[in-house]
Amino acid sequence: MNCPKCNNADTKVIDSRVVDNGQTIRRRRECEYCQTRFTTFEKRGYTELMVIKRDGTKEMYDKAKLKKAILLSFAKRPVDQEVINTMIATLETEWSLQGNDVTSEQIGADVLEQLKTIDPIAYVRFASVYKSFASLEQFASLLQS
Ligand SMILES: [Zn+2]
Repeated sequence: MNCPKCNNADTKVIDSRVVDNGQTIRRRRECEYCQTRFTTFEKRGYTELMVIKRDGTKEMYDKAKLKKAILLSFAKRPVDQEVINTMIATLETEWSLQGNDVTSEQIGADVLEQLKTIDPIAYVRFASVYKSFASLEQFASLLQS
């Protein structure tokens, strides 16, 4: 974290404390060049993302579960793990920028949107994984699009 005054990158932490019920770490920093003191807040990133399920209940976002579902849709198809990892990381960033909650429908729709350009067979298979979350009409229109 660069100094806000002189932009020097060498700053030292002079005090750290946990605030916000353990959700945030507040750090006092001091620039080693101009001695300006400033505060940074450290929060957990997308790992605290909550998924709102179709029935309205929430559960912790589970990256491993999502990746497994995506890889399942690639069964017996060539798949580049890096492409999948990058795709998941990109989507996680988008979701966490929108807030702490993401609906299971949005996850499914966003993954589908990505798969469309990566592999058409995996796309259709993934659509069928998510059909239990969407109405039959939505599923049908997915297959037709
Ligand atoms: Zn400075």
